[in-house]
Amino acid sequence: MKPLEQLVRPNIWRLAPYSSARDEYSGKEAHVFLDANENPYNSPYNRYPDPLQRELKARIAQLKGVPADMIFLGNGSDEAIDLPYRIFCEPGVDNVVAIEPTYGMYRVCADINNVEYRPVLLDEHYQLRADRLLAAADEKTKIIWICSPNNPTGNALNPEEIEKVVKGFQGIVIIDEAYGDFSAQKSFRSELAKYSNLIVLNTFSKAWGLAAIRLGMAFASPDIIAIYNKVKYPYNVNLLTQLLALEALKDPFEVDKWIKLLLGERIRLIAAFRDLPICEEIYPTDANFFLARMTDAQAIYDYLVNRGIIVRNRTRIQLCNNCLRITIGTKSENNELLAALRQY
Ligand SMILES: *Cc1c(COP(=O)(O)O)cnc(C)c1O
Repeated sequence: MKPLEQLVRPNIWRLAPYSSARDEYSGKEAHVFLDANENPYNSPYNRYPDPLQRELKARIAQLKGVPADMIFLGNGSDEAIDLPYRIFCEPGVDNVVAIEPTYGMYRVCADINNVEYRPVLLDEHYQLRADRLLAAADEKTKIIWICSPNNPTGNALNPEEIEKVVKGFQGIVIIDEAYGDFSAQKSFRSELAKYSNLIVLNTFSKAWGLAAIRLGMAFASPDIIAIYNKVKYPYNVNLLTQLLALEALKDPFEVDKWIKLLLGERIRLIAAFRDLPICEEIYPTDANFFLARMTDAQAIYDYLVNRGIIVRNRTRIQLCNNCLRITIGTKSENNELLAALRQY
């Protein structure tokens, strides 16, 4: 990896961050807070939340096996995806490379930040080819985006190929493991000590069942996390989100139960899809959804919408012609979907 100073935009490297009232006070016990122009009434919502979410990070550190100073928490993964553009990519100058097809937010954030986005097609098995990704990069490439298990294809990418990218690239490699909780594949969080150019993303939006509270995680070297902290909004994760996440973290076994249930339903739903004459192929999945190639994705999508059932139509995505992406629901939701498709 190049020295971090050469990868970070010069203005960000030099940035003196906003120093909040709560940042400046630390150390001694205190009980009279007249420093932040807060209203003294309406506790606990009157107080600004912890800008670094220390209590929550300590719990997540335990759970994920990563030290707290290697964790960034954001307003969804969305924030953890947007920040690296603002940190590393000079608008109109730098570029990023990404697998294709993949999650749409990497491109949207590139466009918002006026950063060139270079998609590199996966192979016919939706697998990553490290040589192709590396060949698309040049001296202006700051970030390579990888998503595993990938969205919308569902499959986990070959970890040896991913590792070739991490080793072979001089810039930052971001591996989005939003669906990692559903996969048997080992998380790349365990490689963070080995690769200082690696950022791994996780989220509370999928297996944890907390999409509404907007809480995403980035794991990286303490140096990279320090820059994330410098650039983020001071109070980017609100108190309600921090409290609700702490509550959920008291019972991670509930999440394990959901995962088992959903993986069981996935097997059942896929088996039933195989028997549908309108389903031509089901792609391997390591996530809580699967991609199915249908006889006519648009017509089937419209038919389902008319019956109040919404799936994701991916037919216009490269390599996904006539594909629908199906999220695993409850048993009764899945049954309703199957009943409708059998009548198509
Ligand atoms: C759903 C999803 C996320 C989650 O985004 P949040 O902002 O945390 O809700 C992240 N990455 C991928 C690839 C996803 O599919």
